[in-house]
Amino acid sequence: MQELKTTKGDLVDAKKRLEEQVSEDDKKLQAEADKVQQELAALDRRHTVLQQDHDAAVQESLDSIGTALNENGKVIVTGCLGKRADLIREAYPDVLSISGPQDYASVMHAVHDVLPPKRNKFLDIVPDTGVKLTPKHYAYLKISEGCNNRCTFCIIPKLRGDLVSRTADDVLREAEKLAMGGVKELLVISQDTSAYGVDVKYAEHEWHGKAYRTRMTELCEGLSELGVWVRLHYVYPYPHVD
Ligand code: SF4
Repeated sequence: MQELKTTKGDLVDAKKRLEEQVSEDDKKLQAEADKVQQELAALDRRHTVLQQDHDAAVQESLDSIGTALNENGKVIVTGCLGKRADLIREAYPDVLSISGPQDYASVMHAVHDVLPPKRNKFLDIVPDTGVKLTPKHYAYLKISEGCNNRCTFCIIPKLRGDLVSRTADDVLREAEKLAMGGVKELLVISQDTSAYGVDVKYAEHEWHGKAYRTRMTELCEGLSELGVWVRLHYVYPYPHVD
């Protein structure tokens, strides 16, 4: 009987210790949760400040565009904000061109569209349409160089290296010049036309105020604006080819 009492007392003590332990653990967990909550709140405040700084910087840039437009009416926008062309066009539909950071070619083309460079008859012996070795009515249009495939019988990847695509706007500008020079049929060539743009992750560029991705299907849409025949060569049936 004495032994039974002792065992029951032990059980009561054990239960009490267990409850104390659980209570202690609960407090620690609550403290951890409070700490995480505070860190989340601090992050949230930091994010809000960054967002406000970002919004202020965007607004400042938009205001600068507006000021420049008011001053001379001809504005070319380039740089980081150029990535948000929709935002700029919505605020200022009259800007002449919008391009993203490091897109030097687009900037120069936009400048030359407004201020055509003066020709020097002694230096500029190449016509605007370039030098063509094909008859007047057709021309080859090279859209990329090299190939990422490794067909065992082929030496091209060793000679030309991996795929390097020209940007869509660059190709479309050349195609436009050729069409304006009298070409009626464009023969689109490369080593692997289906892979066009894979190397640049189908980067987007602007041509005549519209964005085109460096991708075969969108390039075709741009070429279809020129009113000439377009013949695609070396198109292989990859899954991504529509
Ligand atoms: S896809 Fe054409 S160019 Fe590329 S490795 Fe094969 S055969 Fe050569």
